[in-house]
Amino acid sequence: MRTTGEGRVLLEPNGPSLQPDRLVALPRLAGPRVGGLPHDADRFIPVDDRGRVEGADGVWAAGDCTAFPIKQGGIAAQQADTVAAAIAAQAGADVEALPFRPVMRGMLLTGRAPTWLRASIADGRAADSVTTGNALWWPPSKIAGKRLAPALGAADADAAAEHSEGGLSVEVELQAHPAEAPGLERRAILAHVRGERKPRLLDFEPGGHGL
Ligand SMILES: Cc1cc2nc3c(=O)[nH]c(=O)nc-3n(C[C@H](O)[C@H](O)[C@H](O)COP(=O)(O)OP(=O)(O)OC[C@H]3O[C@@H](n4cnc5c(N)ncnc54)[C@H](O)[C@@H]3O)c2cc1C
Repeated sequence: MRTTGEGRVLLEPNGPSLQPDRLVALPRLAGPRVGGLPHDADRFIPVDDRGRVEGADGVWAAGDCTAFPIKQGGIAAQQADTVAAAIAAQAGADVEALPFRPVMRGMLLTGRAPTWLRASIADGRAADSVTTGNALWWPPSKIAGKRLAPALGAADADAAAEHSEGGLSVEVELQAHPAEAPGLERRAILAHVRGERKPRLLDFEPGGHGL
């Protein structure tokens, strides 16, 4: 693309010439091209639906480095769950190695109350998409991961209450099992729950989730 005059741009190599109000440029994604592993034309690692690297025995991959086209922390966490189960099953653990069935979860920060977005992805298309002002997962953070989100929430006390406009966030210490986990601090948030009109007090701890 190059500018050809006042407010005009030419899309190369063969046009067209445009006069846009706004231009948004996005970088082209390229993978890390890990030595010794196969990669596609964009240097991402091809994996099957259990995260096994195609053409490399005993190697699994998860996250942005794989050829799965959506690069997102929540998706990476789901891929990691798939891969962990596949490796455990192969090692003889009593675990079912389920195929990767991605679900996109996004939190749209609107400047007022956030909107939660969720859609299953099948055959490259979104299905069952939901858009709502109620939290669709727990904790209701930007990074949606069964284990990752509670871990991040536990690591940063502020993360649980982040972007909580539209609800009242509270943090209380519950003396549930102090003897078992003396260092554990449980948290609670007053939030709207899907299907319920009134807000409810929910609590979670490291390991707890709503996915
Ligand atoms: C600005 C921005 C905002 C985002 N916001 C969100 C969000 O709100 N929610 C969300 O879900 N996702 C978000 N994402 C996407 C999310 O960050 C990624 O999808 C996620 O981090 C992918 O995790 P990963 O572990 O696959 O890769 P990464 O997090 O990139 O981790 C890869 C790690 O490997 C290391 N590494 C690379 N090469 C080598 C090597 N050769 N040897 C050793 N180490 C190596 C890197 O240094 C890095 O630490 C955002 C991304 C960006 C850039």
